[in-house]
Amino acid sequence: MVKRCALCGIVDNIADVSIHKFPSAVHRRREWVTFVEDQGFHVTLCSRLCSRHFVPGVDYAVGNVERRRLTTTAVPSLVSVYYDSMTLYMSGWTSVITLCQ
Ligand SMILES: [Zn+2]
Repeated sequence: MVKRCALCGIVDNIADVSIHKFPSAVHRRREWVTFVEDQGFHVTLCSRLCSRHFVPGVDYAVGNVERRRLTTTAVPSLVSVYYDSMTLYMSGWTSVITLCQ
């Protein structure tokens, strides 16, 4: 499965970046959704976020990226420097993220 972050796009080949499902708990999910929408992106049922939006050592234990698990209280807080939302929007990229992989 292609690892696609709702904010960054495809992160398959980026070292030390893991991909995470949105939480199922309603109140936490809402916090994640708000974070993404505040950046001007849409959230779908298949949206994921990559680890670059979380604080290492706080939201997840630093270690093996393949086994990385977010803490049960993790909420995304870091606006990525790896994307330019206006550029992506202008290129029509936002329509791509609605496709489930
Ligand atoms: Zn990301």
